Amino acid sequence: MDKQAFLDAVRAAGIVGEGGAGFPAHVKYAATVDTVIANGCECEPLLHTDQHIILAHAAEIVRAFLALKEATGASRAVIALKRKYTQSIAVLRAAIGSAPVELALLDNFYPAGDEQTLVREVTGRSVPPLGLPLHVGCVVANVGTLYSVARALGFSGQGPQPFVMKTVTVTGDVANPGVLEAPLGTPLMECLAAAGGPRVSDPVFVIGGPMMGRMVESVDALSRETVTKTTGGLIVLPRGHYLHRNATQSVERMRRRAAAACIQCRSCSEQCPRHLLGHPFETHRVMRAFGAGQEMVIECAKQALLCCDCGVCEHFACPMGLSPRRINQAVKAEFRAQKIAYDGPRDINEAQTTWRPMRRVPVPRLASRLDIVRYMDLPTAELGVLQPSRVSIPLRQHIGAPAVPVVKPGDKVQPGDLIGDIPVGQDGKPALCARVHASISGVVQSVDGAVVIAK
Ligand code: SF4
Ligand code: SF4
Repeated sequence: MDKQAFLDAVRAAGIVGEGGAGFPAHVKYAATVDTVIANGCECEPLLHTDQHIILAHAAEIVRAFLALKEATGASRAVIALKRKYTQSIAVLRAAIGSAPVELALLDNFYPAGDEQTLVREVTGRSVPPLGLPLHVGCVVANVGTLYSVARALGFSGQGPQPFVMKTVTVTGDVANPGVLEAPLGTPLMECLAAAGGPRVSDPVFVIGGPMMGRMVESVDALSRETVTKTTGGLIVLPRGHYLHRNATQSVERMRRRAAAACIQCRSCSEQCPRHLLGHPFETHRVMRAFGAGQEMVIECAKQALLCCDCGVCEHFACPMGLSPRRINQAVKAEFRAQKIAYDGPRDINEAQTTWRPMRRVPVPRLASRLDIVRYMDLPTAELGVLQPSRVSIPLRQHIGAPAVPVVKPGDKVQPGDLIGDIPVGQDGKPALCARVHASISGVVQSVDGAVVIAK
């Protein structure tokens, strides 16, 4: 397939990276690289979204992956997943057949699915600090994203389809945990209801996985949340759960605890996945500066800008129960507010990487630390396809500029109709952005940061 035709189809469908922050895929896939990696690792505990997609759509994923390989000029295509996913491995092997695609089988560690960790696992190359996989000749695509690419290219047998449906795991303290399909913009309360509702009287919620997901503190707050292109999970927990307490500590309390209890043991630094890729990042130094109230003065605190928010330091490494990740987030926010960028070294220290195999975080031990063992082996029911009567579809579900609405209140729309387009940037070129499409048929009610459609 012609590269430009491939990129045009991906762009037209509004596809973004589904496993991460939502980088517009047509921009990412424009690179020329030697290796493409399909990410099916699903390293966040409790989520089954990627495996569900692989089991249902392995053939389309492999076809889309081969189209990506061709478009990027890659000589090597590797699908990476954990060796414990035996069913997924079997269906992928059958779908690959004699096609030039390898499987890389990883142990059950966290964060196996982190893009930079995966590039290192598959190629032995470390992405430089603040760099991208393409800087070391790689493009990484989540398997869910590849299924969306397959639909955009018409491989699902229904002609080219835009990105309007999302697969979501709903689990934790719910009556009927499982996986469902939902139109973009579906209220998360409807996803919760499809899983039978909470089993606890005073629930809190995590949108995403337990390690990197976002805490939502009440039913009222959840009622304002909808399914977006990057929503992979909804986890229900009882109020006061370890993850709830961790996510709701104030910055001042974290500072007092860092000052009083950080013993500078370096465990957070030595187990940090970025440090283990050879990055010049030692988060215990940020802790020391923060505890002293000197993070905006002491130069090494800028290392916080190298943190990827994976949470290994605070959920696994720190023996004192401190919160290096949340402290890095607070320090990063302050640097960004003051427009201060990282200006330190960007070299890879290969000596640090030799410790990687010994310092991988086993998921069962991580689950124990997170106090989620009781949720680990819950059944995964098929919760079906939701059919909401009203959706609220944000115009920004991706990194970059928000899409510009191309509909107005009163317009009638059908699933797949364009409702938000890519704007032109100040340089006269298309901004970094992704298109947005209607996910149900109905009438546009309002257009204000999100397009609300009701039947
Ligand atoms: S692991 Fe905890 S106690 Fe040790 S240096 Fe890091 S933050 Fe301080
Ligand atoms: S969250 Fe912690 S372990 Fe993860 S990259 Fe940041 S400092 Fe390192």
